[in-house]
Amino acid sequence: NMSRARWVVGNWKMNGSIAANEALLAAVRELPRIGANVGVCAPYVYLPQAVQALDKSAVVVGAQDLSAHAASGAFTGEVSGAMLAEVGVRQVIVGHSERRQYHGETDEIVAAKALAALGAGLVPIVCVGETLVERDADQAFEVVNRQLGAVMAALGERINEVLVAYEPVWAIGTGRTASPEQAQEVHASIRAKLGSAGAVVPVLYGGSVKASNASSIFAMSDVDGGLIGGASLVAGDFAAIVAAL
Ligand code: PEP
Repeated sequence: NMSRARWVVGNWKMNGSIAANEALLAAVRELPRIGANVGVCAPYVYLPQAVQALDKSAVVVGAQDLSAHAASGAFTGEVSGAMLAEVGVRQVIVGHSERRQYHGETDEIVAAKALAALGAGLVPIVCVGETLVERDADQAFEVVNRQLGAVMAALGERINEVLVAYEPVWAIGTGRTASPEQAQEVHASIRAKLGSAGAVVPVLYGGSVKASNASSIFAMSDVDGGLIGGASLVAGDFAAIVAAL
């Protein structure tokens, strides 16, 4: 759907080194982009490197997380949205399933982080998605609605400023991708849940997107792009996925 912005965003997770990033960022900088906006979410310490390497390019730099606390203070190890914005970051992933799973992030924490991101002038990329157990129990729609509902309650009308990423947990890093039809039906339910904001909020799919399956997923009417983990670390693969959008 061309009335919504289309995005391919890389999530590097905890990967990279100054030398490896230099080569990857140089390749990302040169990507020919047709319909896609492109973002790269790097580990905190490499964000200034990414901002510098992508300076005056159209590629947006994102972070993978931020503190739920807006004001500076005694929060050892945390990084605020204001700090990210100051170094040139423009978007930030919130509620990635790895944060929910390994760091105990609840729907309420994720909602607070989305609000903190907006408060700092960053675009939150709100991740939602069910586990395999939840899918097998026919709870996928219910879980995604609950996760999104918490963010909607916190953001109110500002929900129209976010990106949403539907990332079924069973498809992340597993090589197992949702079928285009499985993605489409959840994306359609997300769009319905978003109400009037659904007309403008891009809903990205994430979970083992590769060059070989990207175009069939991106062809679905409610899929507005992708959040790409593993394949975003290989310049040629990431380029092929951007070209598929
Ligand atoms: C992710 O973690 O956001 C993701 C989609 O990972 P992968 O593409 O590796 O499944």
